[in-house]
Amino acid sequence: MRVAVLSDIHANLVALDAVIAAIPSVDEVWQLGDIVGYGPEPDGVVARLREIGALGVRGNHDAAALGGPEIEYFNVDARRAMEWTRALINDETRAWLRALPEVLVRDGVTLVHGSPRDPIWEYVTSQPVARAGIAAMETPIGLHGHTHQPVAYLEDDGRIDTMSPGDGSTLAVSGRRALLNPGSVGQPRDGIPTASWMLLDTGSGTATWHRTAYDVAGVQAAMAARNLPERLVARLAYGL
Ligand code: ZN
Repeated sequence: MRVAVLSDIHANLVALDAVIAAIPSVDEVWQLGDIVGYGPEPDGVVARLREIGALGVRGNHDAAALGGPEIEYFNVDARRAMEWTRALINDETRAWLRALPEVLVRDGVTLVHGSPRDPIWEYVTSQPVARAGIAAMETPIGLHGHTHQPVAYLEDDGRIDTMSPGDGSTLAVSGRRALLNPGSVGQPRDGIPTASWMLLDTGSGTATWHRTAYDVAGVQAAMAARNLPERLVARLAYGL
């Protein structure tokens, strides 16, 4: 099965539409949570994901948007954006987000937002955490987001190899245990402002990372018009 894997879209509909336009013919689109929060168009992003039949899981921002206590752990900017999101989103958006599971196993692949052992909150940012996550998976391949950075952790005889894939990087994961992060569509944090996503071929076991340019200035203007926090507006241009 050929799948486009998207994560951390964060209510950035312009970035999502640019990515959708760049996706070649695929069987399914999977998303790894944090669909809303930070960005200006939460309802628009959820409507688009429903329209294309995307399957996936919920993230900490999606849980917070539904009124969950996750908001207590947010920094001041994230909290302000989340309060704005909560007040804005419509009932269809709420119902769709509420129906998302924390973990989804599909075609032999585990999908989570944070990590396999703590799907909502844990950040996989080190080899020990990646090793524990890989050990916690019932499938050889796992997909996660949350850090907004494209990365691959591959287990090799108990050792963990780490890769930072760039645009066009392809990795053969067949026969190995691996945890893969497609990066963020709506708010990349690896110093590159273009939307990050991944193509996964579950049959051949290959993953390819992609970057797609979008109208960053247009999204920044939309955020400013909605009075969203300045630091969240600024960071889109730096990809940090
Ligand atoms: Zn996120």
